[in-house]
Amino acid sequence: MAEKIGVYFDMQNIGGGLDAEALAAQTREKWGELVSVVRVCPVLACSVEEIKADISAQGLDGVLLCGASPRAETDVYRLPAQVEFVNLREQCALSYKNPDGSLPDFSGGAPETLAIMARDYVNMGVVKLQKSQVPDSVAISGIRRILVIGGGIAGLTAATEAAATGYEVVLVEKSGQLGGAAVNIPVSSPLGPHWTDKQSVDLNAKISAVTSNAKIAVHLNTQMETLSGQPGEFKATISTPQGPVGVDVGAVILATGWKALDDKYLAPMGLGKLSQVMSAAEFGKMLLAGNVSARRIAFVLDTTLAEDVAREAVEGAADEAASEPETPATEGGAEKFVKEDLESIRHLAYSNAVNSVGMLRLANSVCEQTNDATQAFVLYKNMTVPGILERFYKKMQDRLGIMMTKADVTAIREAGGHLVVECKNTLLGMDFDLDVDLVVLPTGMVPTTAKDAVVRFDYRQGPDFPDLRLFDGFADSNYICFPYETRRTGVYAAGCVRQPMTMDACEEDARGAVLKAMQCIESASHGVAVHPRSGDASYPVFNFVRCTQCKRCTEECPFGALDDDEKGTPKPNPARCRRCGTCFGACPERVISFANYNIDQIGSMIREVAVPKDFKKEGPRILILACENDAYPALDMAGLRGRAWNPFVRIIPVRCLGSVNAIWVSDAMSKGFDGVMLLGCKYGDDYQCHFVKGSEICAKRKENIAETLNRLGVQPERVDQLEVAIDEYDKVPDLIDGFVDRIMDMGPNPFKGM
Ligand code: SF4
Ligand code: SF4
Repeated sequence: MAEKIGVYFDMQNIGGGLDAEALAAQTREKWGELVSVVRVCPVLACSVEEIKADISAQGLDGVLLCGASPRAETDVYRLPAQVEFVNLREQCALSYKNPDGSLPDFSGGAPETLAIMARDYVNMGVVKLQKSQVPDSVAISGIRRILVIGGGIAGLTAATEAAATGYEVVLVEKSGQLGGAAVNIPVSSPLGPHWTDKQSVDLNAKISAVTSNAKIAVHLNTQMETLSGQPGEFKATISTPQGPVGVDVGAVILATGWKALDDKYLAPMGLGKLSQVMSAAEFGKMLLAGNVSARRIAFVLDTTLAEDVAREAVEGAADEAASEPETPATEGGAEKFVKEDLESIRHLAYSNAVNSVGMLRLANSVCEQTNDATQAFVLYKNMTVPGILERFYKKMQDRLGIMMTKADVTAIREAGGHLVVECKNTLLGMDFDLDVDLVVLPTGMVPTTAKDAVVRFDYRQGPDFPDLRLFDGFADSNYICFPYETRRTGVYAAGCVRQPMTMDACEEDARGAVLKAMQCIESASHGVAVHPRSGDASYPVFNFVRCTQCKRCTEECPFGALDDDEKGTPKPNPARCRRCGTCFGACPERVISFANYNIDQIGSMIREVAVPKDFKKEGPRILILACENDAYPALDMAGLRGRAWNPFVRIIPVRCLGSVNAIWVSDAMSKGFDGVMLLGCKYGDDYQCHFVKGSEICAKRKENIAETLNRLGVQPERVDQLEVAIDEYDKVPDLIDGFVDRIMDMGPNPFKGM
């Protein structure tokens, strides 16, 4: 709790629109002794030494900086006291417009509505500091040993790179040999400059770099039995041929790779039905054994035919079920397909880039092996060659034995001992039937996490990553912002278990995952969060005396950070925690808090806003709880670009919409706010929530809030949740104005002034 606060106004950033001296005077008057120092600084960033001197001379334990957004220049203010920011620049002065929508005229000083808004924000800032404490971090041992699960290219690279930095490595491979899928790929597409020619994978050298490294312990024919503990001090039990072995590790790299999509999905294209139709993986093995005798080979990258058959089967079954509810099974062609099959078949599309490069590699290799006696036809719908591998593609275009064309492959059938590939909409400007000896189909690369619990967590939430079906089996926690990071802190995915990728990309990925694993161990040993709130020393503290063991926190924590005892009392694992606050949003007893972010603090900020009684004359008041990851920066960007929004809103950043406790909405409504807007990341299939499901959980809680409001005779539409991505800053002012218009139509909150 800050008890002696210094408040500093930054003229450079707010002087053009706000009367900083007037704000300073109001602050002194309102807060009395709590605010020991109030200064208006010409350039705040140049006053750091002055602030430090005040801290020391006046014994300040809190510093409130009123100027630019907390997202700007934070590093300048490393001060020996708690620091909070009041965003008077981006989300106040720069984004201000008059209540009638006209642009302000600052020649006569700050418009009154703007001055009132600024005063509210400063008061909210003071109370925020007053209710904040310096977190006591929980440092743990931070074992400098990394467990790598999987001995393919990604696993081998991760092990070598981690060992090169001085970390010990335990590498676990379930088969009897290292190398993974690369064992069947002695010659790869280009792995480095000039990116035009095949390259030797040099697998033996990679394997011996691992097996000869004293820092790496390799366990073949070994699987994970359990992983317990938390980042920095995990305990893994592995089942070796000699029996279970326990190892202590600080972090885990998941490099278990992929499995081929079930052949049944490509059956409509002849796989498993016509003897001369095979998968790329099978063809690769045949090529390696020197057994390819076919001279006309079609490498087919268009799988629309198979996808259409599955889709039509599912839709047909749905129609049938609708007209005849008794009809039990879904049947399409020779195979039965259900909705989940449509999700599985999507892996063909996800693997298209790898298959595009892979087909070129196979076509190139077979032409070489047969001195261009083979004619390779590469038929694609979307040739997706990643990055600089475009050079390889260009070279293959010029290769004598390779003929490439865009084509819709509408049928593959047998005729007179040959295969006929029917091609439509080709680049050659005509439809044609291609006579070939062999058809090679792409491989759908399904992450091993899709079906199996590969890590086998000994966590309260179960042995597997949660909700993976929704995300096609990939264990990432946020594709866009946090590659490598799975939904279990301390476990980092690399290579094809993360997404289908070429071999060079697997190597690069492994290096990235190693860096994350190291960052995780170092962060845990300093007692701070690794991501996304890197360096945050706070963690949830539980008041167990008032806990009713309802288990909501343990069930809703997206990262499995909370175990529980037999009665249901939560058992926190601070190093697994990502500090999202979803647990305290869930807790009906409100017994969970962070030292610097808690229910009372945000509730007090809400209550600090001066809500006028006269809705018509002085306007409504709308509270926006804005997620700090996307919504808050989007608002900042909008403000910086001169986009303005209704001046009757007051914005409070929250760590995640998942941390919004219903009591804050009640606080706002009983204070007289006319509406509450929950502004956060997108959720659902195409989720962007940085804490995976915080926005989704918030949406469910909002339904309960709406019911409560309804019972109290308040329109539930007064509380709304809206989605915004960080790059949608242009859209966010309109979202706010639209919501305010709806509130204006509804009139004042019936509880106003009570
Ligand atoms: S803050 Fe988030 S990650 Fe940490 S325990 Fe609570 S819900 Fe789990
Ligand atoms: S949600 Fe709150 S009351 Fe329920 S188990 Fe967790 S801490 Fe206890």
